[in-house]
Amino acid sequence: MKDCSFCDIVNRATDNQILCESEMSLSFEDKYPVSLGHSLLIPRMHEPNFFKLPTSNQFDLWKLLTELQEILTEKYQPDGFNIGVNVNSDAGQTVEHAHIHLIPRYKGDVADPRGGIRWVIPQNAPYWD
Ligand code: 5GP
Ligand code: ZN
Repeated sequence: MKDCSFCDIVNRATDNQILCESEMSLSFEDKYPVSLGHSLLIPRMHEPNFFKLPTSNQFDLWKLLTELQEILTEKYQPDGFNIGVNVNSDAGQTVEHAHIHLIPRYKGDVADPRGGIRWVIPQNAPYWD
């Protein structure tokens, strides 16, 4: 697979870049984090669309997510998390190798955190006023 930065990570990541891993998946910190500890979980196989991954790999990623959450909690003591998967460019996906974002959140990191991932569509996000 040419020109996939995540395949490059699968093929060349050093042990100290990998946060946790399994036979099918691995995790590493995002290069342009939106918060301290923002990390990504990816399948080792190249597949752009999360839903086209074999179910076994989808399950494996979700299983590893809990392990990653424990690692980030120990390392950074966040107050919460957002979990996100962008599927296709119209939903915001910029790297065409499926991945799950795990974004640690900290009290006060935004003025009003209500809604969390609802803010992917800002005009419809608030429903509580
Ligand atoms: P997407 O927009 O596709 O859901 O997210 C892609 C994510 O990959 C972004 O959060 C971006 O910061 C991250 N990213 C892009 N290129 C690299 C890279 O080469 N290394 C790492 N670790 N993260 C990357
Ligand atoms: Zn790839």
